[in-house]
Amino acid sequence: MSKKKNLAPETISAQALGLFDRSTGGVSPSIHMATTFLRDANYALLHPDHSYSRDENPTFIAAERVLCELEHGEDAMLFSSGMAAATAVLQILKPGDHVVAPRVMYWGLRDWLQSFCKQWNIRLDLFDPTDPDSLAATVRKGETRLVWIETPCNPTWDVIDIAAAAEVARSIGAKLAVDSTAATPVLTRPLQHGADFVMHSATKYLSGHSDVLAGAVVTANHDEHWKKVRDARSHGGAVPGSLEAWLLQRSMRTLHLRVRKSCESAMAIATHFASHPGLKAVLYPGLQSHAGHEIAKRQMDGGFGGMLSLRVNGDAERALEVCGRFEVFARATSLGGVESLVEHRFSIEGPRSPVPPDLIRVSVGIEAVEDLIDDLEHALG
Ligand code: PLP
Repeated sequence: MSKKKNLAPETISAQALGLFDRSTGGVSPSIHMATTFLRDANYALLHPDHSYSRDENPTFIAAERVLCELEHGEDAMLFSSGMAAATAVLQILKPGDHVVAPRVMYWGLRDWLQSFCKQWNIRLDLFDPTDPDSLAATVRKGETRLVWIETPCNPTWDVIDIAAAAEVARSIGAKLAVDSTAATPVLTRPLQHGADFVMHSATKYLSGHSDVLAGAVVTANHDEHWKKVRDARSHGGAVPGSLEAWLLQRSMRTLHLRVRKSCESAMAIATHFASHPGLKAVLYPGLQSHAGHEIAKRQMDGGFGGMLSLRVNGDAERALEVCGRFEVFARATSLGGVESLVEHRFSIEGPRSPVPPDLIRVSVGIEAVEDLIDDLEHALG
């Protein structure tokens, strides 16, 4: 962690905590491709922290330290993907435990959670993220071991009150883990609201250029649960490649600029289209009409995110027709890159999805907002 505790987060990420290359004086850290590290004649490691790349690698550490500092955590770990990061946290569960998660969340993780829990005799209950009382009514004292939340929830962007969820978890002796992929540490620091773990798909905003697959977990405490998560990574081997880890620390240098620009444009788009005749609703926590707006104002700092969804007047067919007309937005899955993307989530998630068929998810990049608004106007016809 940085010794200069009073530096602004923008400074920390722009300078990557001053992690320059001490051996050459290079102002950016070098990539360490080595998978194994030397021992001396007495069989002591030349560098006590580096033995084998499945445990740790100097290139991972650069990105981990910056993220740990931005999230105000005690320790951080990179993974090979967001899914690898999330599934490592879920290794703290054992057969017979109870876990709760929101009904609307990243569908890939929800799907995996359902089959993982079934296979390992872990009881799973999904709560309604739009109902502030639903979480407290779903947990079971002495049985629930982990509360998993995601906020804002992908792709409806419902907002969950992290401090309230932390209070519920603490009152029943459970841990709280937050998927903060959409919020990023620029907007929300879940550990400061009482969470135990914060997880990111670093594939999204942290790397920001749609060219790195990575994940990360930051912990509030260096405790036995964290040891389990670390063991899951070391034994399972879900570490990123050195190049990905290096690209990630490089991309985090512009994280604040990119996220702030996306937030500004997302707000402009949401406001512009809020009462568009071709839409039933614009789902964006920055709009006063959004049910989670007041919570978002409390826990999101300086913006409401770069993600929003549009519910078109009509059905899935109409949503797909609109998707087909975009010329500036690219049609692709994923989010958080510098280029704006649209996606029809229902087509991707399938008929069991709780996502409305009329919903188009929009990831707002850093292009000129006028071009994005024109393209949306054109697509909506
Ligand atoms: N969490 C959220 C909110 C996501 O949107 C995604 C992917 O879209 C993931 C987790 C999984 O991340 P990855 O694709 O890096 O495994």
